[in-house]
Amino acid sequence: MNQSRDTITITERLGAHNYHPLPIVIAKAEGVWVEDQQGQRYMDMLSGYSALNQGHRHPRIIEALKRQADLVTLTSRAFYNEPLAELMELVTELTGKNTMLPMNTGVEAVETAVKAARRWGYRVKGIPDNQVEIIVCEGNFHGRTLAATSFSSEPAYREHFGPFLPGFKIIPYGDVEALERAISPNTAAFLVEPIQGEAGIVIPPDGYLRGAAALCREREVLLMADEIQTGFGRTGKRFACDWEDVVPDVYIMGKALGGGVLPVSAVAADSGILGVFEPGSHGSTFGGNPLASAVAVAALRVTEEERLAERSLSLGADLLAKLRRIRHPGIVEVRGKGLFIAIETTGPARPYCEMLKQAGLLCKETHEKVIRLAPPLVISEADLHWAAERIQHVFASM
Ligand code: PLP
Repeated sequence: MNQSRDTITITERLGAHNYHPLPIVIAKAEGVWVEDQQGQRYMDMLSGYSALNQGHRHPRIIEALKRQADLVTLTSRAFYNEPLAELMELVTELTGKNTMLPMNTGVEAVETAVKAARRWGYRVKGIPDNQVEIIVCEGNFHGRTLAATSFSSEPAYREHFGPFLPGFKIIPYGDVEALERAISPNTAAFLVEPIQGEAGIVIPPDGYLRGAAALCREREVLLMADEIQTGFGRTGKRFACDWEDVVPDVYIMGKALGGGVLPVSAVAADSGILGVFEPGSHGSTFGGNPLASAVAVAALRVTEEERLAERSLSLGADLLAKLRRIRHPGIVEVRGKGLFIAIETTGPARPYCEMLKQAGLLCKETHEKVIRLAPPLVISEADLHWAAERIQHVFASM
């Protein structure tokens, strides 16, 4: 008991307060389960914001980590390494694009895509220098750097971080006509989440992505899909864009690409786009390092061979149906795709998350009034059934 008090006290005393964690110290984890310092087990319904689609410490991913750790961990891109070549083969095969660029965190991949789009705008589309515009959506979340903060519409993310980077237009999400009105001759790209995760699992109307893709093609605008949270099976398809048979010009990936083990992100696009980078124009010391690349290769193989997207699709439909049967005045809506599910509540979601924790489920509210349910995609039917029952009990008791 003292142990977890100490950990929480020290973290609160010495850490900057940019997070508000639930009061639990996770000491161990395996698959969909985590354990605190006293040995109390909880089901992980957050999956590290969808970075743990393959579950905690998947044996094949850990094995790849250990094997590579005994060979070489960092080369920098000053030299070549074999795991990165393998990762490039896999990512290009899965996305259908002919080039990729590796980074580490999700927001670095977003920055990479934005830089690529700007250069493409000048060098390929012929937009006058310093006039490129990129269109983004209200409610977006693309990360925390100053570029991503500059085109966020969320006051809490922006307050007192200005001056901001110019060159971005914000339009309503889910509205193809707004996109049409916003596109100008200086528009290089439309950056969009196929489902807005951090905004509260906001699903756009059917046909939105298809309409946006057609418009982008017609107006020579790059469609850049931020699949960092939605990719690799989370929504029941390999990529959320697959729901509308849309192939974006640029895929932005992260989170589950690192198998919940290491930060690995990437941008995949054809060489007409990523070819705008020449040596010296962009890079990262750790991006594409052999340790992370070996982990990512294993993470992708697990995702494909264990058919995590198919699991997410069928298990997600089952959970959604069960949750929709709950009758409770505090529930506004239950929505989701695959194992990416939101329970929107009339009041703050935090008290529900605290009660769910007591019932053995770790969830985190997003945007105050949404309980996000996103377990690892390796979850068994029996475990998911157990989770649904716990959730039903919690609502019945509140
Ligand atoms: N883009 C989306 C859609 C995200 O959900 C996130 C993280 O939640 C990011 C970008 C940023 O990723 P990272 O925190 O790895 O920088």
